[in-house]
Formats: sequence, C-alpha cells, structure tokens
Amino acid sequence: MKPATLLVRGGRLTEDPHGATSVPIYQTATFAQESALGGGEYDYSRSGNPTRAALEQQLADLEGASRACAFASGMAALSTLLRLAPGNRIVAGDDLYGGCWRLLMQVAVAGGTEVIFVDTTDVEAVRTALAGIPALVLLETPTNPLLRVTDLSAVAQICRESAALLAVDNSLMSPLLQRPLELGADLVVHSATKFLGGHGDLTAGVIAARDPELGERVAFFQSAEGNALAPFDCWLLLRGMKTLSLRLREQQRNAALLAAELKTRDGVLDLIWPGLPDFRDREIHDAQCSGPGAVLCFRTGSVERSLALVDALQLYTVAVSFGGVASQASLPCRMSHASIPEEVRRARALPEDLIRIAVGVEDGEDLLVDLQQALDRVGLMGQLALQV
Ligand SMILES: *Cc1c(COP(=O)(O)O)cnc(C)c1O
Repeated sequence: MKPATLLVRGGRLTEDPHGATSVPIYQTATFAQESALGGGEYDYSRSGNPTRAALEQQLADLEGASRACAFASGMAALSTLLRLAPGNRIVAGDDLYGGCWRLLMQVAVAGGTEVIFVDTTDVEAVRTALAGIPALVLLETPTNPLLRVTDLSAVAQICRESAALLAVDNSLMSPLLQRPLELGADLVVHSATKFLGGHGDLTAGVIAARDPELGERVAFFQSAEGNALAPFDCWLLLRGMKTLSLRLREQQRNAALLAAELKTRDGVLDLIWPGLPDFRDREIHDAQCSGPGAVLCFRTGSVERSLALVDALQLYTVAVSFGGVASQASLPCRMSHASIPEEVRRARALPEDLIRIAVGVEDGEDLLVDLQQALDRVGLMGQLALQV
C-alpha cells in the first residue's frame, strides 16, 4: 500500500468481535489473564495496549520499520532514544530543536554521556567527529528552523563504517515526505505533536526502528520506564493521521502562495523554503524528500520589526508548534529555541530576527491577505507598491 492509503486503511485491530471501523479506546490498566500463569496477549497497559498496538503497527508500516513505539511526547521519545547510544556517545547535529539541545546538554551530559555537536550537512565533519568509534548520530533534516539539509545516504554510509547508529528526527517532513530508514538510517524519531497528529490537540512521540532487535530494546525501555502514550491519546493520533496526506497537500500549496508573496517584498531577507527554485540544498532535498513541507522562515533585518510583524498578523496564532491545521507564526529565538543560550544561538548563526511560519490548511487567499497587511504595516513593501 502507498503511504496515503496506509494512513487511512492502516492502524487496525487484528481482530475485533464487533467489527468496529474505528479502533476502540481500550481505556484499561489491566487485562484479565487466562490463569494465574498468565496467557493473555496483554496484561498491563504500560507494557502493551490494543489501541496503542494498532497505532504502533501503522507507524511502523509508514516508516518501513520493523517496530515502532509511541511515547507521551517527542521529548519522551528522544530521551529513550539517547539510551540506545553505543558507548554512551552521541554525535548530534548542531541545529537541533531547542528542547533536544536542552536534553542533551542538561540531562545527557550531566548523566555522563559524551555529546559532540557537528554540522551534519558537512559529511566529512561527521566522519571526523565519529573518528571510527561507535556512537549514536542524531540529526534533523531539514533542520528547524534554518532548514539545512543533510545528505542522509552519505551520512548513513559513514555511520555503517563506524558501527554507529543513525537516528533521524523526521518531525518536520513526516513519513509522507521523507522515509529515512529507506535511505540507510537505523532509527526515526518523531514529535507526533506536529504533522502526524496535526490538530494541536495532543503531545506524542514516536521511535521507529529498522532492526527488530533494536525495536525490541526501544519497547523494553518504553515498558520499563512507563512513558508510553495513553490509550485516548493513541486514538487521537490514529484519528489525526488519517488526513495527513490531505492536510500536507493543502499546507504545501498555501506555503507556496505565501513564499511567492514574500519573494516580492523588499526587506524580506533570507527567505528559506525547500520549494523555492533557489533553495540552497534543493538537489539533496529533492533527492530524499517528495515535497517541500509547510514551514518557512525569513528575516526582516531587525528584531523589533520581526516582533511587530508577528504581532500584526491576525489570522496566524502566535505559538511554538508547527504541522497543525491552524497557521502559526513565531520568533524561534524567543520561543521554541529559547532554551538554547543566546551565545550558542549566535555561534550557530540562528538569527534573532528570524520569523518562522508554520502554514495550516485555512483558505490560502485569507492567509495571503493577512500576511500582506502585516507586511505593509511594518513597511516591508512589494516591488509593485514601491513603483506607485
Ligand atoms: C517539537 C519537536 C520536538 C519535541 O516534541 P514534543 O512533542 O514537543 O515533546 C522534537 N523534535 C522536533 C524537531 C520538534 O519540532
């Protein structure tokens, strides 16, 4: 089945006595056993639950994984992922989600894990950082918010040479646009709070593993540490995922409309969106992704102007997330990436005036008109307007 079909037809119970067409919510902690010796398929929801099992099977199928596990949030998934690091050593991308940076620096390092940050878009830099020693390589591509692209096949090859595990945070693309396991990655992690859930009504995370043994280790930690996604949230995620293909199509169409408008405005600097013809990493991105996604970024030249622009938007929610049906605007340095210290942000060339727009599924014309009035208000005029 193709992904768009899997999204709708996957995620089923293997057997249901009543033929329910929506997976029932098994809101139960325990399952009665056949005898004191056990014998049921499930015994306790921390270790396994039918609603979660249906979701996890669907997620595994979508990523082409042998197994997937659903967690209470993207961070819960990432924190489990870090436990899989060979030799307690992590080579991490240098433009990661702010919460991931905090987890690495304030939790993993404090717990004795060795963490090395590297620009993973530079394949040779990854080779040098690994130095032939096993580690967990963790990266995002494209990164958020700067949308920098790593050549996954090339990095996967280097990881194999060092017996390192490659994990890709695929939250920004979703399995519909990018399937890292097919490109040689060992693990995929998601904040399902974003595109997979898509409605801004739950937090959830996913780890999908290519190798069955690795998948079993993830499931072991999920059960041992008790951070699995609850049955009702599993159901919300199952429901949300059914429309991912439709949502993404519309979101990308709207993103193209907004990007075209931003292109005409003088004073809009460094507009980045993988769908633009002059997108810096267009070739690699197009080779490993089937679409540009629906997150775009640009600068205005001053933090004050960026703040004023975001405040002037009426239709876009000022919020930290992306991937939902409702469009959002944010200043990453003040919001989603504020947990990265200012000097580190500066060293990583994360501009303070950067605006991130996460495009939703509202009518494209409405989104465009609202963006236009906000741009006009802060004096970022179009070339046409300047001629008048
Ligand atoms: C949001 C996000 C996370 C964290 O996920 P939560 O569901 O918020 O815990 C991790 N990685 C990326 C790329 C994200 O955007």
